[in-house]
Amino acid sequence: MYRIMTAGPTQVRENVRIARSQECSNPDLDQEFFDFYRETCSLLSKAMHTENKALILGGEGILGLEAACASLTEPGDRVLIIDNGIFGKGFADFVAIYGGNPVLFTMDYHKPVEIETLQSYLEQDHDFKYATVVHCDTPSGVLNDVEGISKILDSYGIMTVTDSVAGMFGEPLDLSDSKIDILCGGSQKALSAPPGLTMLWVSERAFRAMEDRKTPIASFYANILLFRDYYEQKAFPYTMPISDIKGLRTALDNFLEDEEVYQRHAGIAAATRKALTAGGIELYLESGWSNTVTVLKVPEGITDQQLLHGMEKDYNIMISGCFDVLAGKVVRIGHMGENAYPQKVAETLAALQGTLEKLGVTVLCDMTAVFNREI
Ligand SMILES: *Cc1c(COP(=O)(O)O)cnc(C)c1O
Repeated sequence: MYRIMTAGPTQVRENVRIARSQECSNPDLDQEFFDFYRETCSLLSKAMHTENKALILGGEGILGLEAACASLTEPGDRVLIIDNGIFGKGFADFVAIYGGNPVLFTMDYHKPVEIETLQSYLEQDHDFKYATVVHCDTPSGVLNDVEGISKILDSYGIMTVTDSVAGMFGEPLDLSDSKIDILCGGSQKALSAPPGLTMLWVSERAFRAMEDRKTPIASFYANILLFRDYYEQKAFPYTMPISDIKGLRTALDNFLEDEEVYQRHAGIAAATRKALTAGGIELYLESGWSNTVTVLKVPEGITDQQLLHGMEKDYNIMISGCFDVLAGKVVRIGHMGENAYPQKVAETLAALQGTLEKLGVTVLCDMTAVFNREI
């Protein structure tokens, strides 16, 4: 097995794996499971500093993004797509599938959304039901100020859907200091549970918008409203993946017990950037680096595949390439969740350096030494 230092899925701690092997009850009928699910959701709300209802849906992170768009979009609705990254732009597809009219607000992919530019745009045009924005857009690693952005959107009466699949649990997020109506997360990034679950935090305003629709939600599996009263009705729309949720709960307990989690992510991310730039390796972003992932340009003269395969073959360490407009141009080190420990990142940098040098790329310093000094 490779040691995965990818931009998600991340490594999974042993106690999470063990939690998934507990005996299974019937999650449709067992009162204890309804209580366990509800308690886990309250802890999720607490982790994001909100009273907003949290829900866990059986399906990978993408399900959450689709469910948010399916549940809010009615045919003809104008939806603002804040696009400064690949996932950001991708929201337009979900909106269009459900009959909405996505309007792209596109900015430079090398930096975070500029609040002033967004504000002047909205002064001209703010007739949107909701807007979508990504917290950490993982392909470039850019981090957007989603709390601030949601407040500006709210001042124009626009609801906000936020994808923080690769931000939350590695980057602080305070929902109580935001106007985010639907926050989307996934199990397999900084929370470090295996892939398979999506988490949603839904405001009362968003639930009301779903109730007030003129047309029914055009999906069953992606219908958030069907989950709203699961506890009172003692019924989920479909059978919950109980073992996955047991694992997620243990991963969440690990997170809640870790008092240095955000500091550690910040320290590791900063030291990683220092080490790479000292080594003469260029970062993709100009500013706005997320603490969960570092994205570096593939040096001249080699390909991403040579670099990735070299690290796998000689060091047994797997990092991520990229896709869409960044395919072949960058590679990514995921230092979030269980990956975010100094020794793991130091070993990854050593493997990166060894592979680069074997491929004939000159590295200007001992990057691991710089990392260890900075951390
Ligand atoms: C990982 C991720 C998702 C989930 O998508 P997959 O590609 O299926 O893993 C959604 N949004 C962001 C920003 C992500 O990093």
